[in-house]
Amino acid sequence: MLESILIILLVMMLFLTAFILIRTILYGRAPEPVEPAALAEISAEVVAEHLAAAIRHKTISHLDADRIDYQPFVELRKSLEQMYPRVHSTLRISPVNRHSLLFTWKGKDETLAPVLLASHSDVVPVDPAARDEWRYPPFEGQIAEGCVWGRGALDNKNTLIAMLEAVESLLKNGYQPTRTVLLAIGHDEEIGGHQGAAQIAGRIQAYNTRLAAVLDEGGAVFTGGIVPGLNLPVGLIGISEKGVLTLHLEVEGECGHSAFPPKHTCIGVLARAITRLEEHQMPPRTAMAEAMFRYMGSYLPFGLRLALANMWLFGGLVRGRMMRNPRTAAMLRTTTAATLISGGVKDNLLPAKASAGVNFRLMPGDRIADVVQHVRKTVADDSVQLHIPENAAWEASPLSPVDSPAFRALAQAIQQVYPEAAAAPYLVQGATDGRHYATVCDQVYRISPMLLSEAELATIHGNNEHIGIDTLARMVQFYIQLIKGWGVE
Ligand SMILES: [Zn+2]
Repeated sequence: MLESILIILLVMMLFLTAFILIRTILYGRAPEPVEPAALAEISAEVVAEHLAAAIRHKTISHLDADRIDYQPFVELRKSLEQMYPRVHSTLRISPVNRHSLLFTWKGKDETLAPVLLASHSDVVPVDPAARDEWRYPPFEGQIAEGCVWGRGALDNKNTLIAMLEAVESLLKNGYQPTRTVLLAIGHDEEIGGHQGAAQIAGRIQAYNTRLAAVLDEGGAVFTGGIVPGLNLPVGLIGISEKGVLTLHLEVEGECGHSAFPPKHTCIGVLARAITRLEEHQMPPRTAMAEAMFRYMGSYLPFGLRLALANMWLFGGLVRGRMMRNPRTAAMLRTTTAATLISGGVKDNLLPAKASAGVNFRLMPGDRIADVVQHVRKTVADDSVQLHIPENAAWEASPLSPVDSPAFRALAQAIQQVYPEAAAAPYLVQGATDGRHYATVCDQVYRISPMLLSEAELATIHGNNEHIGIDTLARMVQFYIQLIKGWGVE
């Protein structure tokens, strides 16, 4: 009797193991064959000089509009005119809201929907306290150690220069795309893109034009280490970006002497609300991360593939591992971050008011209304008032397709330029200008075609921002390949 039970158990175990293994073997998609391309010859030194020149214009965005100096934007535009004479004599150039630029490169077939390549000319300020930590001054545009140094080298003047360089080079060779190609350079991406990209998208909409595809910044070709266990670079192409919601929580209290306090002052009530929000976060949504991993399928190490292919069994384990690290946790859920707090004026006075700002980054599928409802339910205290400041809330962007010719051509261009890399779709955690183009296009993709290590990633908006000259040349080659790929029917 015992023997037959053991045999039955053994057979069941064997079936289970076989089932798990077969799912593992079948997991993920086979990598698309990459058509090798004869890449354009690019003078990396010339591109580096052009980027260095662009960095020298201090096109800095400040949230306080009065602090923005627009003269550097005017000067940058003059530099671009000198550096790219063919672009400026062949393409139609329309300034939008004075400092953003829309270039139109007419295609041979004007009945086809245009494609748009986006970048932005503004940069974030440099923290004066950190200025001494820069190996080379942030606005001198120095070329040293095989790199171009300065604010904007990675975000986003590299892209701006690379795409103009690509068009200049194509024009020099007499190329004309079949499909119209638009180049958009926003001037306020770092403060929301409301005056730049949003207005450019508005103008396109006013012409009643739908775009076939858009490429903006977002992902990059990350060197090993970004995905645990994946030892080759991977070009992560953003197919959506998270939404944003900043909620202000306000509690009013009774003034009085601190010697006779109520059980909770308004500061205590507010603190309890924030603690509850941190302890009860929005539930995870794994679909997008699963799609990203499935795309990398055959490149992933066996153990990870086995777990991902059998989420019915290992889902809890995978989610648990990802939730432990803030970077991977952010891929799975709407994040909650208390970022502002104020209240009270004197140590012996009961505060009349306390307020806090909580910043949420919304997963596709979690709407602003869902998060507000979650906050009300979690805080469960009517004395905590909620309000949303102006321009502080927008939904996650719609998902762009991964089974379209535009996505395939984009992945192809990345792999032609970086043959050592894989390519996969992912969710952009930050905000980009790309979201503004969702009104005129269903296929908005987000990647800066640069090779980027984790250390370099940390320099974006930080200190010592720099880019390798070789990477810069590859970025130009990428835009040439992409324009050829997207520019045809
Ligand atoms: Zn940027």
